[in-house]
Amino acid sequence: MKKLYENFAVKEFVEKCAGKEALDVLKHFLKSRKALKDEDIAKKTGMRVTEVRTILNRLHYRGIANYTKTRDDKTGWYTYTWRIDTKKIVELIIEEQKELLKKLEKEREMRESYTIFECKAGCSEFPFEIAAEYQFKCPYCGKDMVCIDSATKKRNLSRQINRIKKVIAELDKLK
Ligand SMILES: [Zn+2]
Repeated sequence: MKKLYENFAVKEFVEKCAGKEALDVLKHFLKSRKALKDEDIAKKTGMRVTEVRTILNRLHYRGIANYTKTRDDKTGWYTYTWRIDTKKIVELIIEEQKELLKKLEKEREMRESYTIFECKAGCSEFPFEIAAEYQFKCPYCGKDMVCIDSATKKRNLSRQINRIKKVIAELDKLK
């Protein structure tokens, strides 16, 4: 489970879902490998209980954290015991990465099949037919649109695509 925490995509995703401190909470769960009470996590990480709860609730919202609620008969207070669904984290990231991959592949395909015109100021980009309709003037700023060499952009897209494929392959191993 150490590997999961070290994975860059996992770190980035957890941070995005629940904030920077969420990583400490996750780390703590992965180390202890069991269900934990929010008070105990707070003690171990030095965070306030309310902070820990906020993080866990955010993770819960994404389906990553689950809890069981038990009532203390004497005090009438509720205790929340939390678990982290590590499989779910990996699944969510793979889903997100696959969507991004689809988008980038579509864009690369578009650049392969069409001649692209770009506004000289950089505010718009259209395939030839549409640029022609605008008489090669940018509809936003009125500047000329010029035919661009897509080679560099295609190369960048390919690089991004390969990187995402690698991320997905690594995550597949963590499932
Ligand atoms: Zn423009």
